[in-house]
Amino acid sequence: MSKTKHIAIYGKGGIGKSTIVANLAAAYSENKNVLIIGCDPKADTTRTLVGRRIPTILDILKEKRDVRQDDVLFQGYGGVKCVESGGPEPGVGCAGRGVIVAMKLLENLEVFSQNPEIIIYDVLGDVVCGGFAAPLRENFADEVYIVTSGEYMALYAANNISKGIKKLKSNLGGIICNCRGIPLEVEIVEEFARRIGSQVSGVIPRSELVQESEIDAKTVVEKFPDSEQSQKYYQLSKTISANQDFVIPEPMNVEEFEEFFRAFQ
Ligand code: ADP
Ligand code: MG
Repeated sequence: MSKTKHIAIYGKGGIGKSTIVANLAAAYSENKNVLIIGCDPKADTTRTLVGRRIPTILDILKEKRDVRQDDVLFQGYGGVKCVESGGPEPGVGCAGRGVIVAMKLLENLEVFSQNPEIIIYDVLGDVVCGGFAAPLRENFADEVYIVTSGEYMALYAANNISKGIKKLKSNLGGIICNCRGIPLEVEIVEEFARRIGSQVSGVIPRSELVQESEIDAKTVVEKFPDSEQSQKYYQLSKTISANQDFVIPEPMNVEEFEEFFRAFQ
């Protein structure tokens, strides 16, 4: 039996993580058994795979004690297994707690030992608190990718996330550029990757097909399988599968970061 590949995708809120994770899962589902775990309190990673929002682990735990696998695990497009950790109400409690609770529950329910070939964690990275670092701890995730655009705040968050990755001695597989359409965007992201000792694993163009599929609660891969956009997600899925190049990143300090960013303005 082949070893399960655990991939964690981090990035600033709103940068495009869930869109990428859902489309990657849809692409992998053609020939692999895939499990995705939404670890963002927004709990919308799996919506475009299942076609609706699914209840989160934290919600289910509020209602019942004896939680079974089919209470929290939902089948989506292509047989992708979908889980959402959930989070507390905004303004109440720790946003990352749901992730810790979810990982424990999934372990107890033996979800991890059922040999999915790929597990993808979709993790918020604005704040790198204990909860959001959970997928990196205890070797849950073997490899990490950071999603960013060429915008200041997205890169700033990406640099912070790489500090967390370094601290936990995790393996950074690369940077995914989800384009906003700003000038020199790919060059900026390539330089960012180089500065922290990594590489760009894929470039996803900005496309209206993303919104059009989102309205139908579908992935681009499902709704527009023959589109160029869909091909970009397939390409990224292949690059990630074949990747052998992992590093512990060397994040920039504040001055280095400012200098790096200013050079492109
Ligand atoms: P995150 O999970 O990082 O918070 P999402 O994946 O939910 O971000 O994306 C945020 C918004 O950006 C969504 O409404 C989505 O439709 C849009 N979006 C993401 N990627 C693209 C893209 N490549 N082209 C156009 N819109 C995109
Ligand atoms: Mg998301």
